[in-house]
Amino acid sequence: MKAHIKLGFDGGQQGCTGHGRCVVMAGEPFEVDDNGYNLHRGGSIEVPPGLEEAARYGAKVCPERAILIEE
Ligand code: SF4
Repeated sequence: MKAHIKLGFDGGQQGCTGHGRCVVMAGEPFEVDDNGYNLHRGGSIEVPPGLEEAARYGAKVCPERAILIEE
């Protein structure tokens, strides 16, 4: 059974502050705008199958703890 994971960017301790580290360190499924802010901040996305580990890693390296994983 596949893991059901969502990324929330509105429930972290401080929220996304635009480091861009998630996409640099973990790649997909993260996307940032030209200023380094996560495109999905304030919302959530469904993680594509096979990218669950990348999602978990991105959450781990986010310095603001702005990425929440729901499984
Ligand atoms: S690592 Fe965290 S603070 Fe930096 S862009 Fe990604 S979600 Fe935002």
